[in-house]
Amino acid sequence: MENCIFCRIAAGQIPANFLYEDEDIAAFRDINPRAPVHVLIIPKKHIASLAEIEEADTALLGRICLVARQLAENEGIAASGYRLISNCGTDSGQEVAHLHFHLLGGQFLGAFTTIIQE
Ligand code: 5GP
Ligand code: ZN
Repeated sequence: MENCIFCRIAAGQIPANFLYEDEDIAAFRDINPRAPVHVLIIPKKHIASLAEIEEADTALLGRICLVARQLAENEGIAASGYRLISNCGTDSGQEVAHLHFHLLGGQFLGAFTTIIQE
């Protein structure tokens, strides 16, 4: 999608330092980190949010979880713990309408309802 910032990052039109990349998935650091480790994991194809996923995306979503596990190991937070979340829709505060998962860790994350909101 032309005006979607994460589609543009996935396509290499906006520079981002990929921590992980394959044909279908990319991961890069959040521009405004809310924890010592704050990585975004996205499908390269445009899906607006969890509200738009389909049966055909099952394998893709499973692979995103495996990428999160691998990145947690790479980032040194696998043992201390981490959180993987995806905001969906207005009440979640979702800002970017391209499905993404926040991998957060490197500190005690506290109450899960507040960590990603300022
Ligand atoms: P949301 O609120 O939609 O769940 O999260 C969107 C996230 O994308 C925010 O944490 C925000 O800091 C991050 N973000 C927005 N624009 C960019 C960008 O151009 N580059 C990177 N790396 N992160 C971005
Ligand atoms: Zn997109």
